[in-house]
Formats: sequence, C-alpha cells, structure tokens
Amino acid sequence: MTVLRKNLIDGEWLGEAGSRNINPSNTNDVVGEYASAGPEEAKQAIAAAKAAFPAWSRSGPLARHAVLKKTSDEIMARKDEIGRSLAREEGKTLAEGVGETIRAAQLFDFFAGETLRLSGELVPSVRPGVGVEMTREGVGVVGIITPWNFPIAIPAWKIAPALAYGNTIVFKPAELVPESAWTIVDILHRAGLPKGVLNLVMGKGSVVGQAMLDSPDVNAISFTGSVGTGKRVAAASVEHMRKFQLEMGGKNPLVVLDDADLAVAVDCAINGAYFSTGQRCTASSRLIVTEGIHDRFVDAVKERLDKLVIGDALDAKTQIGPVVDQTQLKQDEDYIAIGRQEGAELAFGGDRLEREAPGFYLRPALFLGSTNAMRISREEIFGPVANVIRVKDYDEALAVANDTPFGLTSGICTTSLKHATHFKRNSEAGMVMVNLPTAGVDFHVPFGGRKGSSYGPREQGRYAMEFYTTVKTAYTFAG
Ligand code: ADP
Repeated sequence: MTVLRKNLIDGEWLGEAGSRNINPSNTNDVVGEYASAGPEEAKQAIAAAKAAFPAWSRSGPLARHAVLKKTSDEIMARKDEIGRSLAREEGKTLAEGVGETIRAAQLFDFFAGETLRLSGELVPSVRPGVGVEMTREGVGVVGIITPWNFPIAIPAWKIAPALAYGNTIVFKPAELVPESAWTIVDILHRAGLPKGVLNLVMGKGSVVGQAMLDSPDVNAISFTGSVGTGKRVAAASVEHMRKFQLEMGGKNPLVVLDDADLAVAVDCAINGAYFSTGQRCTASSRLIVTEGIHDRFVDAVKERLDKLVIGDALDAKTQIGPVVDQTQLKQDEDYIAIGRQEGAELAFGGDRLEREAPGFYLRPALFLGSTNAMRISREEIFGPVANVIRVKDYDEALAVANDTPFGLTSGICTTSLKHATHFKRNSEAGMVMVNLPTAGVDFHVPFGGRKGSSYGPREQGRYAMEFYTTVKTAYTFAG
C-alpha cells in the first residue's frame, strides 16, 4: 500500500490524493501518491509565508543554524535510504542518488555555517558626525520552482540559503519527483521550522507554479528548468517588480585537443555526456575534437560506450539508468531522428532497449560528422545523446565552443598550459573545466552561466547571498 504524501501549508500537512509517481526503471512500480495543490492552496501557502516572514527574518542566527544543521545531519544519516528513493523515482543510478543526497547534506551544512558568519560594513560618512552601516536583510517570501533532474540537490541549494538569510519559502517541486521534495521538507519541518516558514505545494507547473508567478506577495523567485518556462518567470517577475534568478539549459562544449591525454579525454566525454543519462544542464553534448586525435578518440569512446551497463537504476551494477519518462524519451528519439535527417552519422546507439521490467531505456547515442549549425548542436536535448564536431585546430575549437546561445559550462582536455589558460580566459561560459567533465561541481563555490543559460546572481557558495538578501544602507547622525 502506498502512503499519501501531503502538502505542507502553514505548518499543516494538507491535501487529497492527486498524482502517482512512477519508477522509470519499472513502470509497474508506483513510488507513491501525492497531493496536488490548486491555485487556492498556492495562495494559502503564500499568505502563510508572508505572515511568517517578520518573525523568521528577526529570529537570529542560532535558530536558523540549529534547523539547517539538524537537517544536514539527518540527510547524511539517511543517505542510503534517501539516495535509493531518489534513484527509484528519477532513474539515476544508486551511486548517483546517494552522491546527490550527500551533496544536499553538505549544502545544508555549508549554509548552517553561513548563518553564523553574516556581517556588514561600517564606514564613516562624507558628512562629519555621521556613520554609515551596510547590512543585508532577507528579501521576504521566496518562490522556489525546481526541475526533476536533481530532485534533492537543487531544492537544497535554493532552500538552504533562503532560510539561512531569513526568508520564508513557497516550494514547488517538479511533478516527476515529489518524493525527494517531500522528504527534504519533512526533515526541515521536524528539525523545528516555525509554521509558515517553509511551505510545500506539489502540483502542476501551469497551476501552482503559475499562481506563484502571478502573486504580488512573492518577493523573489528562484527557478531552474526549461528556457520556455524561465522566460515566463522573467516576464511575470518584471510585471510584479520582483527579484528573479533563472538557471536554464546548456549546450556545453567539451574540446579535445591533439595533445590531450586520451584516457582523460574519454573519461571526461563518457562521464560528461552520458552519466545521469545525459539529463544534466551541465552535460557535454558537443564534443569538439581536433583532427589529429579525432579517430583515436572516437574509437575509444565507442569502445567505452559498448561496455556501459544500462539498466535498472536500483541495480548496483548499472552505470546508466533509464530516461526519466515517456515524454523525455520521445524528445531524445526525435532529436536522434533530426540528427540523421540533418546528415550526421549515428555511429553508436540511439535505440530503445528492453530490460526485465518495462522502463524507458535508451542506448546512449553518439553522432559523428556533425556541424555546429545543426539543430542537434544548437538545441538542448537533455538525454544520453552527444555529437562530435571535427575541427582543425585550437582556434577553430574555441570559436565553435563559443558559438552557441547557451553558456553554462565548458571543458577542454589538453596538456598544453597555454591552451588551457587561454581557454579558461576566453570561453564564454559561467564554469570552465580543464581535464575534467563539464558536469560535476563543488557545493561551496558559485554555480551559474551566461547568455541563454542563466539570469541573475549566481547560486551556491557565499555568492548565493546576493540573491537571497537585499542590502540596506543606514545613516546615523551622532553629533
Ligand atoms: P523541465 O523540462 O525541466 O520539466 P519545465 O520548465 O517545464 O522544465 O519545469 C521546471 C519547473 O517549472 C517544474 O517544477 C514545472 O512544474 C514548473 N513550471 C512549468 N510551467 C510553469 C509555469 N507556467 N509557471 C511556473 N512554473 C512552471
């Protein structure tokens, strides 16, 4: 029997059964049943967060530290169970699910520490006898809207700083991954958050998310998801003159130069393009390879692809789990067909796989002979699909890498200090990796991109403060 998970509104668990959560590795397996909020519940949640803000914003560091630290400790203690549940509902492997859960614990721990490090500045005024103080305050009610691909880490990296800096929250997770969202809210609630400080409204983006966008009482929105929805968040936020922060797609290049260590380059490509079933905004979807290493690199990547174990996310041997759902699978297959129509050569995979249980299994796909003008090079696919673009030298590689509407991450595999340094300085991306996969980042440093990938201040690390606080400059005349 499945348990009904409810929404948390003003400290109460509320709601009737609304949607079922299906395991993408085995569509016969129902993970659970979840309440689905409507516009009324969204309004109640926003009102509760608004009412809770004055007291929470003045609560002081100790109360916030206690909740965040307790949350971190519980997540860490339950990492295997939560990681398994995450893998079951999203389809990433057990190792990835547990790794992501540990990261969530680390994020709460980091921001627990930050509550004790809040500081301001005190400077003399240009006017004699006057002092100037610069301090930071919470922004108010923060709307947090998250996608399905990192069901616990993304909520954690938004909720933890929002709470640390004294904001109250209305949290709307993606429809496909309510269990991870519910778990993190349950832990925070039991860790002692006052009622109304954190509200969970599971439900449809077009209903609950839209109600958040349309509310004048939501003072800031932090969003991660598609470019299309990001633009709606932006337009609605401008209408209400509220702060907003967007993390959207990527079309991240991994440059492989002739002088690269082949084993390192192949590791970076396999990990960056295909792990987490390619469902990462930081995935390396364009492999930009110079002529001298092209054939050796392609052969070695194909050999590795052939050995990857694709299967049930909960099987410890699995290296690549299923695609998250039928809609995403169709999108992946559509792009594979588009790539072939555009004249790229499908050199590996791209076909559906049958496993013991019914699931959304796709063999990782590799295209060769693609150009940077093709749709498969320009549009985010969000699946285990990558294409190789052959270039003559470093200069062409850099130009191709930067020729994209996105700018989240980029990577280069080279043993040349000159090219590595030049690439770090000239790559038009928010995060640049040298001899590392484009995906896989630390939890304590800024995350974010440029161009069509991101908008607003960076997330994570101390830089998160920029979004979740507002600066006050106070003047005092003391004679
Ligand atoms: P993805 O491709 O990751 O599903 P979406 O942008 O569709 O990207 O979804 C990201 C998040 O945005 C999800 O939580 C989704 O429910 C939410 N969302 C979708 N449509 C809207 C909307 N109109 N207003 C607010 N949030 C929305």
